[in-house]
Amino acid sequence: MPEPVTFLGRATALVGTHEASAIEMGARTLLKKRDRAAAEFPVMEEMRDRARAIRLHALSNLDRLLGHFADRAEEAGVNVHFAADAEEASATVARILEETGSRLVVKSKSMVSEEIELNEHLEASEIEVVETDLGEFIVQLAGDTPSHIIAPVLHMMRQDVGRLFEEKLGVAYTEDPTELNQIAREHLREKFLQADAGISGVNIAVAETGSVILVTNEGNGRLTTTAPRVHIALMGMERIVSRWEDAAVVLEVLARSATGQRLSVYTNVVTGPRREGEPDGPEQVHVVVIDNGRSEVLAGGTAEILACIRCGACLNACPVFRSVGGHAYGTVYSGPVGSVVTPGLHGMEPWWELPYASTLCGACEEVCPVRIQIPSMLLQLRAQAAEGGRLPGWLEKGMSRYTQTAVSPKKWARAKRWASLLSAPISSKGWIRHLPGPGRGWTDSRDLPRPAKESFTDWWRSNRGS
Ligand code: SF4
Repeated sequence: MPEPVTFLGRATALVGTHEASAIEMGARTLLKKRDRAAAEFPVMEEMRDRARAIRLHALSNLDRLLGHFADRAEEAGVNVHFAADAEEASATVARILEETGSRLVVKSKSMVSEEIELNEHLEASEIEVVETDLGEFIVQLAGDTPSHIIAPVLHMMRQDVGRLFEEKLGVAYTEDPTELNQIAREHLREKFLQADAGISGVNIAVAETGSVILVTNEGNGRLTTTAPRVHIALMGMERIVSRWEDAAVVLEVLARSATGQRLSVYTNVVTGPRREGEPDGPEQVHVVVIDNGRSEVLAGGTAEILACIRCGACLNACPVFRSVGGHAYGTVYSGPVGSVVTPGLHGMEPWWELPYASTLCGACEEVCPVRIQIPSMLLQLRAQAAEGGRLPGWLEKGMSRYTQTAVSPKKWARAKRWASLLSAPISSKGWIRHLPGPGRGWTDSRDLPRPAKESFTDWWRSNRGS
């Protein structure tokens, strides 16, 4: 069967599947950990305010900070490259690899590399790319795509991983997490030792010293950036702060919001290549600063989304994401943040549907460590989609009828009576199991309570007086 092409199509196909149950369980666990970590940190709210101010200040001074960062990094021996779009970014990486004679590349987790489809580009040039983050390694082996910003295989159970390793790596089946880790570790260690180059992302860049910070929990980031002779760091141009004390605040809220840790296990700082007398580290460090649509987002009404520190908390808190998972979004950045970022970076076509993948409950904004106002941006994008005439005719007409009815108490009371009468033949024990027409999408995955015979207003009038 061909892949559904819309969010609704993909989401409907995923509801109730094994993948959706794994996502629900994993996201709830991450959210609980985040809540516990926030509760035990007495200054969490204050830190969130500070992190927000730091990130918004960085966005308002992006030109200046990037210039400053490039100057300091170059003084430290780093080659800084600026890429306007995905193609230029991939071509820059390919050129560096060619010039340094690199054929085998180890990679630590980098969302921006997924965004620019770097692996596909490099593999077309016959460069072997090996993902070394455990989740990304599994995704690569499975020929799959990540389903979560920080937990790429949230959609898989350990039994799935056991079967995958058995099939692809020729090892005996196990579902023991320690043994699975050990298998991946043995496979990857050889690659680290043989690799010519390492490619990483950048969590935070610090303008005052030209340093890049990488946060990982597995140590693969450290090996990627130190073992091979060339290190290339890919950086979305917004991932910058002015000073080290700003970076410290962002790190405080990042780990707590992402995985409920006080600090991630490894915080690697790269300030230039290996210096004389140092025992390890790469001979060359390159930082590729990528725009790829960010300048347009920065100039528009959803600029604040660039303050995101990619913790993934809004995904875990979102009831829509938890029901269907990241693959339903059909793009690299999923969940509430993805529904704003994706139309911003890649345009409303074909992504105008994503801002509708939300109940607007506000759970995302409540947990966001930088208090990004996601729901109001989703509404703004919905307005743009409607103004662009993208909504189906029946929805436009239906909403306009609904508005006329909802603002008139008389029409509203009449509509409620009709809804109760008309729903009687299709309800059973107070629930509607199957709605006809466009309402079918709702009842395909859940039941709808039948409109009450007597409304609360009528009950109130007869029992408490008007
Ligand atoms: S929008 Fe906020 S909660 Fe969501 S990933 Fe970004 S920083 Fe985290």
